[in-house]
Amino acid sequence: MPSKNADTKLEKSIQLNEVFWTLQGEGRWTGHRALFVRFPFCNYDCPWCDTDYSSFEKWNEKNFVDMTRQEKAKLAVLTGGEPMAHKHLMDVIRLLKGEGFVIACETNGSLPVPKEVDWVTTSPKRYTQGKWEPYFIHPSVLNRTNEWKYVVDADFDFNILNRHHTKGSEQIFSLSPEYSEFEKNTHRILEFIKENPAWKLSLQTHKWLGIR
Ligand code: SF4
Repeated sequence: MPSKNADTKLEKSIQLNEVFWTLQGEGRWTGHRALFVRFPFCNYDCPWCDTDYSSFEKWNEKNFVDMTRQEKAKLAVLTGGEPMAHKHLMDVIRLLKGEGFVIACETNGSLPVPKEVDWVTTSPKRYTQGKWEPYFIHPSVLNRTNEWKYVVDADFDFNILNRHHTKGSEQIFSLSPEYSEFEKNTHRILEFIKENPAWKLSLQTHKWLGIR
């Protein structure tokens, strides 16, 4: 734990959408207690985005560190919005590493991921606000990714998955049904997986549990 002297230097203000303790509900870390750090703003514009990332609160670094110390778990999940697009990303990473956290992130993959992030879940999206090609992946993210996750909605074209080389890969390949048409989207995923077993169904268990 940092010394009291170090704590007195925690004066900078950082912008965050919300910070809260919960269970990670999906992916590799499902069921693990984790500190969720939600960044404001996103460079994409998905119509079914379930996050109101348009606003932020100013967090004093000291208050943020106090939050990290509220529980014993040492897993943090950086999400958004798009964490990689935010100017205070490295401040948050510095504070979390100072407290001994393993850092996982969820990113749309359009921007590089700092080397300090320990687990990268990349979820490419097609609603790019016209700035990138749909489902754009920054070249540096290809090998940084531990888990791929595509959201399957009514218009999802499974052909986009052909660009991934699943054979012999240690990466995880996940498909998550968009929830407004949950049954239909899940059925499409299950049919695809029959023929492509390197891919797996990923469910958002926090929604079933009724937690954030
Ligand atoms: S990339 Fe993620 S955070 Fe951004 S709009 Fe799409 S779903 Fe929302």
